[in-house]
Amino acid sequence: MTQTRVRVRFAPSPTGPLHIGGVRTALYNYLFARKHGGDFLLRIEDTDQARYVPGAEEYIMESLRWCGIEWDEGVGKEGPHAPYRQSERKLLYRQYALQLIESGHAYYAFDTPEDLENMRKKLESEKGNAQYDAHTRGGMKNSLTLSEQETKELLDSGVHYVVRFKMPENEDIVMNDLIRGSVKVNSGLIDDKVLFKSDGMPTYHLANVVDDYLMEISHVIRGEEWLPSLPLHVMLYRSLGWTDSMPEFAHLPLLLKPDGNGKLSKRDGDRLGFPVFPLMWNDPKSGETSSGYRESGYFADAFVNMLAFLGWNPGTEQELFSMDELVQAFTLERVGKSGSKFDPAKATWFNHQYLLHKDNHEVAEIFDVLLKDKGIHQPAEKVEKVVSLVKDRVNFVHEIWDQAFFFFVPPQSYDEKTVQKKWKEDTPLILENLVKELRSLEDFSVTGLEKALHDYMENHQVGAGKLMIALRLSLVGAGMGPDLKEIMAFLGKEEVIARIEMSVKTIG
Ligand code: GLU
Repeated sequence: MTQTRVRVRFAPSPTGPLHIGGVRTALYNYLFARKHGGDFLLRIEDTDQARYVPGAEEYIMESLRWCGIEWDEGVGKEGPHAPYRQSERKLLYRQYALQLIESGHAYYAFDTPEDLENMRKKLESEKGNAQYDAHTRGGMKNSLTLSEQETKELLDSGVHYVVRFKMPENEDIVMNDLIRGSVKVNSGLIDDKVLFKSDGMPTYHLANVVDDYLMEISHVIRGEEWLPSLPLHVMLYRSLGWTDSMPEFAHLPLLLKPDGNGKLSKRDGDRLGFPVFPLMWNDPKSGETSSGYRESGYFADAFVNMLAFLGWNPGTEQELFSMDELVQAFTLERVGKSGSKFDPAKATWFNHQYLLHKDNHEVAEIFDVLLKDKGIHQPAEKVEKVVSLVKDRVNFVHEIWDQAFFFFVPPQSYDEKTVQKKWKEDTPLILENLVKELRSLEDFSVTGLEKALHDYMENHQVGAGKLMIALRLSLVGAGMGPDLKEIMAFLGKEEVIARIEMSVKTIG
């Protein structure tokens, strides 16, 4: 690698929504680029047109933007290496396929699907390794077995062909991975991958390597599922004469299902009880909808913080990191080798922590939208007050309503169990007497109420257990909730008295 400037890329294929593992790959690339003052590119790898899904590219960009993972160059931004969408770079790849053929590192193959199937059957019956490689290519229909003239005639006739990489028969390919260290694979185990097709489209391998080279990528940071492609990629760099510009590689550990049994996959959808996508996704083909972290009520910064920890750790006890702090702390050395189990409870925990740390004003603004949807209009400072009283009881803003509805509407029912246990024969009288005191109370603040309730209990010889639970039932409809005096001060005298009277009338 001769480049000194750090340049990394996220190179998704628009074959559907971005999985959270993909977002993590993008995040690590972004953190690495920022940390080293380098560039982060977004390249869309859409050479496999059969798998192209409309809307996927927009989804990818929206997801990254929601997370605050901004790219410096790439689709939607442009830059010195534009275009950044491989389908728009199509004409560029052919010359490299030709270069490889000319230098003897690749060849044309004309085998029909039936030819390939026959090879597979023959080899399987002989218990051989059924792949197109150094052992089998000599018996197939390609430019290695055909004469130059025959090859030319076939090419001129316009038949379908592919260009395959000529993997050496027996060569140890030694590679370095920044996470795994040195990796050695014998080329005899690798098949002759297709690099280019007669429709003019490169495959992933060729386009990916050519673009990383042309875009001067210094580090390829990607998921572990691409590790098996590394020997071919390294061989491509060598065969194209680009060894000196070869990027460094880092393959990130897999994201596993919560039980550790296998990779967390797109197909898991909502099956495991949590989203596997950052944003909600409506599949244009099946019409199916999959939930997303954004729509489930996650804060983007909590989501990013949680993702950062799936495969990396700072080596300290600190768990809460802003994006800037992640940039400072992130190193590839602290990325683990083994798969990282996704923990839905931990994801919720992160959101709870962010909710607690967020300014009440900010949370209140989000909660106010939900209130307005219910037709409830309250001054901002009142909504903020409610948020401050209940936010430690919830993980998501949308859960605030269940914990706080009684600030805005009277209870519709009274919890039966609490009524049976705590609503005694003398409760109505106790409450009616309290109402009398409250009517004449001038200071209806938390401190004023504190004193009034205290005096009442003393004067009437009523225990706190008895009075407070009954009062809570009247105001909230249940035996739990935030501080009663806070609720009373919030509701105000009229409403408190109305609710007490209503409960006495209803419960009896
Ligand atoms: N297009 C590949 C993907 O969809 C990119 C893999 C890589 O980063 O090399 O993940």
